Amino acid sequence: MIVRVGHLYPEYLNIYADRGNIAVFERRAAARGHELQVEPVSIGSTVVPGRHDLLYVGGGQDREQAMIAPDLVRHGAALRQAVGRGVALLAVCGGYQLLGRGYRGRDGSWLEGASIFEHETLAGETRMIGDVLLESTLPEAPGRTIAGFENHAGRTVLDEGAATLGRVVAGYGNDGASGFEGCRTERALGTYLHGPLLPRNPWLADLLLAWALAHASGSEPEPLAPLADELEREAHAVSAARARERGGRPAR
Ligand code: GLN
Repeated sequence: MIVRVGHLYPEYLNIYADRGNIAVFERRAAARGHELQVEPVSIGSTVVPGRHDLLYVGGGQDREQAMIAPDLVRHGAALRQAVGRGVALLAVCGGYQLLGRGYRGRDGSWLEGASIFEHETLAGETRMIGDVLLESTLPEAPGRTIAGFENHAGRTVLDEGAATLGRVVAGYGNDGASGFEGCRTERALGTYLHGPLLPRNPWLADLLLAWALAHASGSEPEPLAPLADELEREAHAVSAARARERGGRPAR
């Protein structure tokens, strides 16, 4: 099957090799006989609900976020419609922040967001940097571990009852206090975890791919055939051990 991917602002939001997540989607889809068609969606482009099966946005500095935010807000309604129709979506760090209601920078400026996720972000005085280990709170994969790296000034506060990606085992997570990380709406996942995220968390890549294939075929998501993933498991183990050893500790 062809999986149509919309990569939002690839030339602006791509730090910590976030575009590596696309390479993982490509390789894991190809290993099951599927093909990814990746379309960059940047400033001035149009988002058409239903045109993509998978949407992706990476992280970026405040400066780059400010450059794309006005354009992203323009797509807000179309992106919310696409998510409502079951598109799969992964948003990382700066992209994750701007898919909420907005981001208040350290200078007090407000960047309005696309309001897909039920949260708001406020930049703090200090940056939350380091290795992170989560236990998934996704009903599809309760307790499975997610390992990555975070570097953000933003503190993301979820609305009461909003679904998360995981419980923080080591690291700061959304705000360094709640003990949770990430956010989920329908088949849209947001996270602070860079790395890139997916090479060391292949099950999460497969979950998003299964959702994208379901969107492409109009059927229910089916688990994908497992791959060997020796290297991926090793990368996960190294990353998880580093997080346990030196990841930030939520202030309790
Ligand atoms: N600029 C945002 C912050 O500092 C996001 C950073 C990022 O994407 N790593 O919080």
